Amino acid sequence: MRIGILGGGQLARMLALGGIPLGAKFVVLEPTQDVCSDDVCEHIVGFYSDTATLDQFADKVDIITYEFENVPSKCANYLSAKKPVYPPPAALEVSCDRLKEKTLFKELGIDTPNFAAIQSLDDLTSALREIGFPSVLKTRTLGYDGKGQAVLRSEADVEVAWAQLGGVDCILEAFVPFTREISVIAVRSRIGETVFYPVSENTHKNGILHKAICRPADPMQKPAEEYIKKLFEKLNYVGVLALELFEMNGKLLANEIAPRVHNTGHWSIEGANTSQFENHIRAITGLPLGDTSPVEFCAMVNFIGETPNAAAVLSIKGAHFHDYGKEAKPGRKLGHASIRRPTKEAMLEGFDKLLSLVN
Ligand code: AMP
Repeated sequence: MRIGILGGGQLARMLALGGIPLGAKFVVLEPTQDVCSDDVCEHIVGFYSDTATLDQFADKVDIITYEFENVPSKCANYLSAKKPVYPPPAALEVSCDRLKEKTLFKELGIDTPNFAAIQSLDDLTSALREIGFPSVLKTRTLGYDGKGQAVLRSEADVEVAWAQLGGVDCILEAFVPFTREISVIAVRSRIGETVFYPVSENTHKNGILHKAICRPADPMQKPAEEYIKKLFEKLNYVGVLALELFEMNGKLLANEIAPRVHNTGHWSIEGANTSQFENHIRAITGLPLGDTSPVEFCAMVNFIGETPNAAAVLSIKGAHFHDYGKEAKPGRKLGHASIRRPTKEAMLEGFDKLLSLVN
């Protein structure tokens, strides 16, 4: 089986590392030369808008998937006429546009922060009368890792934020004073079999995921799963889907979905019976899904901008080290470390040591 991946970053690399044992071979389409999936994937260098390149890519593979949600919908639709594309392009269309995404949540009865569509400074001023301060102004498209958004704390921030985001189409959201940020990663197969990973409790720094702790038997597991089931049905979904949520006063508000393997599930490589990467490959190739339960207590921390010393990380019992082989740049995800231990106390103690090595 030859699997095509749109995008050649660390998620493509880890998808290949998860799928190669199943006999799959991987071809990445990615405009940048020298990407970190090159160690394990064939690489076609070309643009997602170039139909000759898309034809060449589609001819080489049996199935197509993607590792980021800003794949142009034209590209996904063009490819889906040639080879099966999973998750379905409809999921891409929703997840790359924050307004469509939140509108879908609302339509499906999934609670989400109060929001309004913004196309002008006038829209923003009138939406603020409804939503009030503090609130968050986000570009509808192309935002990620905290980019393309600004917190509005008072009138003084309004024009500055609008200018800072470039006057493009936006969404205004109520600021949620959440108690926790969590995510649940789920997988649906081609015949509709569905499995869920345990809740991950997530902490961000400067809008970028810093650490994720796997929380088995979390009280928010069931309500989060109910939300995901609605999305799966609606989108006729195949593959891994991540849902990011805010928990506030015992209630869950959906923030966003990612129709792909997700950073908050990296603990599953060593920590679950079947990793999210292997399960994504199983789902899209029509294989039975694997057991998602954690083998021990687990957590993971990202290496952002700087990679700690491998020997220091690996001297911590139960720790695993992942270097994506990328050039170091401030704010860039360069790798991660995970930890798994037989008791929660031992895991948290080891995790504290791990955190002390990471900036
Ligand atoms: P996003 O790109 O929407 O995932 O936002 C990145 C991070 O900004 C989230 O993980 C939150 O920590 C924070 N954030 C985003 N939207 C809100 C909101 N409406 N209220 C409070 N914090 C938010």
